[in-house]
Amino acid sequence: MLKIVSLGPGDSGYLAPRAKEALEEAEVVVGYSTYIDLLDPQMLKGKEIISTGMKKEIERCRAAIRKSVEGKATAIVCSGDAGIYGMAGLILELIEEDGLLESVEVEIIPGIPALCAAAALLGAPLMHDFAVISLSDLLTPWELIRSRVEAGGAADYVIVLYNPKSRKRDWQIGAVMDILLQHRPPNTPVGIVRNAMRDNQDIRLTTLDELADSPIDMLTIVIIGNSQTTVLGGKMVTPRGYKQKYGPFRSTV
Ligand code: SAH
Repeated sequence: MLKIVSLGPGDSGYLAPRAKEALEEAEVVVGYSTYIDLLDPQMLKGKEIISTGMKKEIERCRAAIRKSVEGKATAIVCSGDAGIYGMAGLILELIEEDGLLESVEVEIIPGIPALCAAAALLGAPLMHDFAVISLSDLLTPWELIRSRVEAGGAADYVIVLYNPKSRKRDWQIGAVMDILLQHRPPNTPVGIVRNAMRDNQDIRLTTLDELADSPIDMLTIVIIGNSQTTVLGGKMVTPRGYKQKYGPFRSTV
């Protein structure tokens, strides 16, 4: 049995009870070292830990599959939700490729993704349709990323950016800003959250025309409002449309 365990954004209060249980039951825990470090060391006591660095995803998944084939109760951990830019898909592909579909049983345990954590910290920016785009061009050509940003901009989606900027990949965020400025006003609200629900959490509100100059790195997620998004009392809100349909809210207090 191989359990793919989502850890949520980081803080243990946002770890699902089922994920906690799966970690308790595991004999082997496999994960990217940064995510292993997010876990309470007490929870990992007495377990075999296999942690690997960045860009070692295939090795990490294969190690987890190997351990579960050997009969060990194995958990592979992912931050946020394992099925969102996580390891769940790669594990299923590798199991199929290795002809292990019959012999390895997989349980995928969902978690709170960074986009939900960030949205909650910012207010309610995802109340209407939104598009989620990763700016990482490691596995996806920039042309495809660019065309998705263009489509999201044209259709007035709220846009969530994962992997927005790294030390080596720094110009894409400016390109996204330029594309979206063709579709929405410069003062469109933008929320930037770094280390959501983890140590060193940082929450900022800015505007679309300031996006490229804002402090952004790989620990950051960005939410760009649609044409209706506003800031109410310091909170980013995308109206669902109740007011347009039913008229102004009347206070009952
Ligand atoms: N599976 C994860 C995403 C992993 S991709 C999920 O469901 O959220 C890694 C990217 O996710 C980072 O570059 C960053 O953009 C975002 N991210 C993950 N955790 C975050 C957090 N706690 N705060 C802000 N951004 C986060």
